[in-house]
Amino acid sequence: MSRILVVEDHPLNRRLVRDILEFHGHEVVEAHDVSQAHARLSEHRVELVLLDVQIPGGGGEVVLRTIRNDPAFSKLPVVAVTAAAMSGDRARFLAAGFDGYISKPIDTKTFASVVEGFIEKGGTNG
Ligand SMILES: [Mg+2]
Repeated sequence: MSRILVVEDHPLNRRLVRDILEFHGHEVVEAHDVSQAHARLSEHRVELVLLDVQIPGGGGEVVLRTIRNDPAFSKLPVVAVTAAAMSGDRARFLAAGFDGYISKPIDTKTFASVVEGFIEKGGTNG
């Protein structure tokens, strides 16, 4: 069981991700914009962040920068989740400092195991 922060502004997408992860025994903490994501990170120890790149308050890359600039989160994996599916995006997200990239719409059959793979590679904050 892992605690996962899901940052996603679309309620139905957030619900779908939460339902899948909870079904697989994980605990989900939710945020819908940049400031709420920052608040959740200070309130909860999480083992992974699934970060929608297009969120209100400046975009997911603001949250990524906050995490990468804080030594307390040095081992926290952050995975971009975005509909941007053009070739080159994967490389661009990895170059920006994300640990990985999951494209939307998510594949409900493989999503949990992909997420768990990122958790195994990472550590935890705090
Ligand atoms: Mg979005």
